[in-house]
Amino acid sequence: MRKIKVAIDGPAGAGKSTAAKMLAEYVHYKYIDTGAMYRALTLLALEHNIDWNDEPALVKLFDEHNIDQNGVTTLIDGIDIGIDIRTNRVSRAVSIVCRHSQVRERMVKLQRELAQVGGIVMDGRDIGTVVLLDAELKIFLTASLEKRAERRMRDLIKMGKPIPFDEVLSNIEYRDKLDSTRKIAPLKQADDAIVIDNSELPIDEEIDIFVELVREKEHSN
Ligand code: C5P
Repeated sequence: MRKIKVAIDGPAGAGKSTAAKMLAEYVHYKYIDTGAMYRALTLLALEHNIDWNDEPALVKLFDEHNIDQNGVTTLIDGIDIGIDIRTNRVSRAVSIVCRHSQVRERMVKLQRELAQVGGIVMDGRDIGTVVLLDAELKIFLTASLEKRAERRMRDLIKMGKPIPFDEVLSNIEYRDKLDSTRKIAPLKQADDAIVIDNSELPIDEEIDIFVELVREKEHSN
């Protein structure tokens, strides 16, 4: 048996992070949330009043700080930034911040470094198409827009940061549009990805499917 790389991509609110985290725990792999890394840089940009379109300033910010991600925890310069990266303020800005080619180049390099361990589950938008092109298992996880907005809404309530449902829905739509139409590394399904629509799929059944897929790949040559 060999440990493999698992890439999970898909639109906002498809439940990638939840599924990736559970899968990683189950198969004892390391999990990395790449969306959290772009959110961390966005939080820094907001705190430093940097224009989301100012690529050189964003790159400078990236170079001056140390962003780290180990699944559940996201750190800036060694400090856990917790749920600060999940606010609507960050959600509104992140899809602009992450559009710049030099920002993405640096982030992809860092993500590949973090993935240099045996057994990795990484989720995002361009993992199967750019970051881990050689991932043995690529999953494209999706769900209807309404389901995705409902889930995001539940997360925000849990975090004690509820906002009106319409706002959640329009943010998801807005990010999907920006993410899938950007020039560099747009959100799209890798040719060799397995597509799973989890609109009506309970999470435990979804994880069973993922675990089965991992086991198959671990035992194939
Ligand atoms: O996964 P999450 O929704 O937290 O990601 C936040 C945003 O970061 C996405 O809407 C997308 O704009 C960007 N992102 C990206 N590439 C990734 C992960 C996230 O562009 N690999």
